[in-house]
Amino acid sequence: MLKGKVAIVTGASRGIGWAIALNLAKSGSNLILNYNHNESGAKELSRIIESMGVKSHLFQGDVSDFAQTEKMVAYTFKTFGRLDILINNAGINNDKLLIRMKEEDFDRVLSTNLKGTFNCIKHASKIMLKQRHGNIINISSVVGLVGNIGQSNYAASKAGIIGLTKSLAKELAPRGITVNAIAPGFIKTVMTEKLPDKIREKMLDDIPLKKFGEPEDVANLVDFLVSEKANYITGQVINVDGGMVM
Ligand code: NAP
Repeated sequence: MLKGKVAIVTGASRGIGWAIALNLAKSGSNLILNYNHNESGAKELSRIIESMGVKSHLFQGDVSDFAQTEKMVAYTFKTFGRLDILINNAGINNDKLLIRMKEEDFDRVLSTNLKGTFNCIKHASKIMLKQRHGNIINISSVVGLVGNIGQSNYAASKAGIIGLTKSLAKELAPRGITVNAIAPGFIKTVMTEKLPDKIREKMLDDIPLKKFGEPEDVANLVDFLVSEKANYITGQVINVDGGMVM
């Protein structure tokens, strides 16, 4: 389905990014796997992907750094000569109540999650605009829709991604580029495994489907959004949350 296409997945060294990259590779897309610290995770994924007969290259870089994201996109173009899909998945949280939140706690989460998404789109869109096609998917969160105690920095960053998505969907649509956001609920990854049991139980109680999501649940929606079947969908925020927020 995606044979010959090229995708960048940020934060592909584990969790949701890993599952998204793997699915795209299964559909035939070549990949740039971005990571920041976890080189072994990214290398392992690259090995699996290469065994499937598609090409994958690693790119170590911090998405919050404008110059590094510019280098990543330039490297992609130099390697493959095109860029069809950008998945802005890299993200962090640093949860604390406002009373304990330091300025740097707020800034770091915003720079990684929101500015990182802007940085990658800024550079990638130059290629997509020339090609007159492209699919951009930004990983937001249901927390960006409804907020959460102790996550004001994270919620602000994820709500910001929604505004960014809708504005750029309008701006880039005339050139055949779609921009959508996915808002996962509680997905089983390293990010959520550090939550105390009491909070996990309470969250499970609030999920109508009575189970936590898997990274593949998010990756499956990405598959659809980058397919021909989603040609007429842009500027949307789609929840993958077992019905938690509706
Ligand atoms: P995770 O397991 O903590 O993985 C995060 C990934 O992002 C890692 O590959 C990490 O790379 C990468 N990353 C972090 N900072 C980076 C930076 N500055 N530059 C480049 N890469 C960076 O998290 P996850 O649960 O898979 O989450 C993935 C995305 O989904 C995030 O945007 C998160 O906010 C969002 N989300 C997750 C959930 C959930 O329940 N898990 C819910 C809603 C939204 P390294 O390890 O190499 O540094």
